[in-house]
Amino acid sequence: MPTIGHELTHGFDDEGRQFDAQGNLRNWWRKADGKEFEKRARCISDQYSKYVIIDDIKINGKLTLGEDVADLGGLIQARRAWKEGAKGGKLAPIDGPTPDQRFFVGYGQSWCGSLRDEEKRPRATVDPHSSDRYRANGVVRNMPEFQEAFHCQTGARMAPEERCRVVVKRSLAVGGRGMGAFEEAWPTFRRSDPRGTLCRRCSGCSSS
Ligand SMILES: [Zn+2]
Repeated sequence: MPTIGHELTHGFDDEGRQFDAQGNLRNWWRKADGKEFEKRARCISDQYSKYVIIDDIKINGKLTLGEDVADLGGLIQARRAWKEGAKGGKLAPIDGPTPDQRFFVGYGQSWCGSLRDEEKRPRATVDPHSSDRYRANGVVRNMPEFQEAFHCQTGARMAPEERCRVVVKRSLAVGGRGMGAFEEAWPTFRRSDPRGTLCRRCSGCSSS
């Protein structure tokens, strides 16, 4: 589900803006929309640009912007779809973790992997995707739902006071083409405030 949401979000980001409804290479955004997107999306590129890949090499947040936006939009949509699909059913903790915790653990597991240092260096400059670690941690730290699921204290590394958010309206999930759909579904960004202070501790809250 996160991958489907990821690809849907691409239709409305700095990559999808370059292709019209017929798939032709044609920027279909108004100039002002492009400018506004860049302004609002800066929250995400600033966040990822601080992450170290190896030695003193950091993520190029401008290069990975579209993918980072799609990762966040994708997980938000996946969670929404899961919640709707599970409505009315009975979900119980299994072996300890609650259903909400398992949702995020499952997402994290999808990014388990290992790369040699020799591979990390060139990828840092040419790969438009962030490294696996941050495709997991960089995303969930922006979701108050993660903080709630793991009872992270506000201010913990994975539950910062200021988050970046991709707000995707429901119409994106049911499709639609052209500028009308764009105006309806355009993901918007905002810096969000924490949803109050949660007090219980969680070992995963201080990941980096
Ligand atoms: Zn992508």
